[in-house]
Amino acid sequence: MARRKLVVGNWKMHGVAANLGQVTHISIAAEVTDIDMALCLPATLIERGVRAAPGFAIGGQDVHAFPEGPHTGAISAAMLLDAGARLTIVGHSERREGQGETDADVKAKAEAALSAGLDVILCIGESDAVREAGKAVATVSAQLDASLPDKVADPARFSIAYEPIWAIGTGKIPSVHDIEEMHSALRGRLVAAYGDAGNQIRILYGGSVKAANAANIFAVDNVDGALVGGASLLAADFLPIVEAAA
Ligand code: PGA
Repeated sequence: MARRKLVVGNWKMHGVAANLGQVTHISIAAEVTDIDMALCLPATLIERGVRAAPGFAIGGQDVHAFPEGPHTGAISAAMLLDAGARLTIVGHSERREGQGETDADVKAKAEAALSAGLDVILCIGESDAVREAGKAVATVSAQLDASLPDKVADPARFSIAYEPIWAIGTGKIPSVHDIEEMHSALRGRLVAAYGDAGNQIRILYGGSVKAANAANIFAVDNVDGALVGGASLLAADFLPIVEAAA
């Protein structure tokens, strides 16, 4: 099953207007590569990011499950779309841990975003303690099962990002064997949930992806791209990762 690679940058809480030149620079590369690319910007930069990079896929980093209402500080799928976003991350570990988001919350967000018309990248991943206890595959598989939307109408618009929490921003990455074992287990769960469409859903790896390790990671079975944090802030760091996927 040939799945087109997808490399997505996650700027997290980084970036102001002065950084929009990087968005433009990165978007120009997207015109010539034959993989899919996107940047998930802070909400304050989405609209300007879209203007700085016409035609390029800009996304949000979180979305509320409700279309509108008394939810101070929250942003709905309709608002992201209105700002020009085409996709959103849901369930990043920094939100699961920092904001107490549960699998059920993440599922509701993914369903709301997909039905509003946003593509979705749903994140899952284990802690250091879970990995050390030998429970990574079972724990992350259960997290995936409980976070998945009931229906995925178009598998090209929905991706999973496996991000071990201990690998995020630390420079540590799992072995190629551990990545392969996890991605293959997740593929099995996706097929169990959606049948053949589960073979078309992309499974990204995230956590300390850099130019130096990207090619090895992309060569692993069932790794269909990457979700990149720190190395997505500068085009000079991000574009070599895109090249490694192409
Ligand atoms: P990192 O972050 O690439 O800086 O490790 C990845 C992520 O949290 O999505």
